[in-house]
Amino acid sequence: MVKLSEHLRRTGVFSMEEVNRVMPPPEVLKKGPVAVVECIQEIPCDPCHASCPFGAIKEFKDINDLPEIDWEKCTGCTLCVAKCPGLAIFVVDASCDGDDALLKLPYEFYPVPEKGEEVELLNRAGEVVGKGEVRSVIEPHKDGTKVVTVHVPKDMIADVRHVRVVR
Ligand code: SF4
Ligand code: SF4
Repeated sequence: MVKLSEHLRRTGVFSMEEVNRVMPPPEVLKKGPVAVVECIQEIPCDPCHASCPFGAIKEFKDINDLPEIDWEKCTGCTLCVAKCPGLAIFVVDASCDGDDALLKLPYEFYPVPEKGEEVELLNRAGEVVGKGEVRSVIEPHKDGTKVVTVHVPKDMIADVRHVRVVR
């Protein structure tokens, strides 16, 4: 059984140790877009595995297993991002030159952000930590769950976990 931190149990927000456990190492991040699977509680769930056409999320031996990702196989396609019912997966692309990275985040709220719009960047606690420009909004499975791609400073890729439209 995976032990959850006291911080997570008390606040509902990952500790930095838990964040670091799921973030790809720098040598993976510089290669291209990859999925980050922030799923650290054993629950009976596995659509992330079935939704990956590249076999990057390993087959579960038990439905309660934690997902394991092979970043060498992950293309950053975002199909798992829009399929995870817990909105626990996002894609990070920190391979571009310059100070900005791209985050591809699951989004199920209204209003839906628009391409080119400036949105607030929120951390896991729902606090505003900056602003970023929306690069695209797609709906990979045509089932209501969008994937919003937003520009984020590279030094904030471990912090930003959601966006908020302010009009
Ligand atoms: S982003 Fe695409 S390739 Fe990567 S794990 Fe998810 S579905 Fe598989
Ligand atoms: S689909 Fe999402 S919530 Fe379910 S096991 Fe995979 S990452 Fe966790």
